[in-house]
Amino acid sequence: MTAGGDTTQTSDSTRPRAVSVAPARGVRLAVAAVFVVALLSSVFLLAGLAAYAWYRRALADCVEWGNTYRLMDEHVAALSGQATALSDRASRTEGVDRESLDKLDAVATQASAQRRQAAASVQTVGDVPSACRAKQSPLALRSHVDAYRDAARTLKPWVRRLHRAKHPVAVRVLAHDGQTLEETAGRIRAVLPGVRELARDTAASHDTRASRALRVAIDDAQRAVDDPNTPYGTLADTEQQLFARADAAVRARNAEHGIDCAHMACVALTFDDGPRDGSSRRIVASLRQAGDRATFFAVGGAVNDATRPVIQDDTRYGMPVGSHTMSHTDLPAIMQSGTEHQEFDEASARITQASGRPVTLLRPPHGAADEASRQYLADRLGMGLALYDVDSYDWAEGATARSIQWKVTAQARPGSIILMHDIHDHTAAALPHILDALHAKGYRTVTIEELTGQYPRPGYVYYSRDNIIPW
Ligand SMILES: [Zn+2]
Repeated sequence: MTAGGDTTQTSDSTRPRAVSVAPARGVRLAVAAVFVVALLSSVFLLAGLAAYAWYRRALADCVEWGNTYRLMDEHVAALSGQATALSDRASRTEGVDRESLDKLDAVATQASAQRRQAAASVQTVGDVPSACRAKQSPLALRSHVDAYRDAARTLKPWVRRLHRAKHPVAVRVLAHDGQTLEETAGRIRAVLPGVRELARDTAASHDTRASRALRVAIDDAQRAVDDPNTPYGTLADTEQQLFARADAAVRARNAEHGIDCAHMACVALTFDDGPRDGSSRRIVASLRQAGDRATFFAVGGAVNDATRPVIQDDTRYGMPVGSHTMSHTDLPAIMQSGTEHQEFDEASARITQASGRPVTLLRPPHGAADEASRQYLADRLGMGLALYDVDSYDWAEGATARSIQWKVTAQARPGSIILMHDIHDHTAAALPHILDALHAKGYRTVTIEELTGQYPRPGYVYYSRDNIIPW
């Protein structure tokens, strides 16, 4: 009984303890369970976000490298064709040395063989719109990116090789060829206003050597184009010298401003489709408040008495304004309809009139460009094409400030050119958060010229700091 009494007593004495301990253990278990669930959810959420970022990047890379390959292929084809035509003329011209001619023929043949090889390697991938469409396997996307990128990189060195092989022959054959002289002189004339602006801009800096050297190159170039007897070789050398000096001035100005995008995390924010009175102004205000800068690509048709002050403000606050055509039409369609003068020349003139600065870059609507439009813009207007490697999808149906912020921060990487639009209120709402997120990751926002450390070259296509298609 004692035992029983003891048992009872023990049981009685333990009961209150059991009452106090059991809920505590339950609470601990519950807390642990909640903790484990929260941890797993965070792991899944982070994994989900990483997978989402990876997928978005693959989708953007696919379009970027698919189009890079296509443009590179068109350009190498055009240069090879020019090389063959030049070789034909050279065989009928006296004074062209055999060695240069053989070299030109060999390079043109090799370049054509490389084109065929590159085309065969992307044959299974197909065309860009179907290969890079959304909702397909991320692994397939990644392999398409690799195929396009490899093909584009195979072709890239051939641009320079063809130019090098053509040069000594062209100097002889085209020395006084009217059309060639007109084209080359026209291109130099077209870039001179922009390069002069750069010289004025850098004249005030501490490193005035670069600015002085640039002014000498500008005077040489002006003299060369003013004299109708300047032979092709001299014009070509003058053009090269002008760009080399302009690049040096851009780099000196970058150094002055503490910008070195080869060693820093830089991104170039860009805003298309404006100016629009309300949203464009909000965007510039956010940028200024955070000490950031961006490049704007204005639609010529949207520039009027009401919106001209918006562009004037962009310029005043150090934000370059490029062209986005007159009526927001795809470049191949413009070339086909023969409206290039209005869409390119007149739009640039209208933007320049508003900003007071020459237009050096054009952003193709919908990212669509081709060899013919590149050639027109390069030779007639001395302009390059600014594409992008990050699309914010702020133009897409259902876009919200949050979705834009996610897409930009998920895809941005050092050297990126980021596409946004200053006509949307949700973009203006997202911008302060995007800038915060970019700063938190250590990014500095710069203009495209600062990003590449290069004066915008006629006919060059700028996708990002790491993907520039030469002309
Ligand atoms: Zn647009």
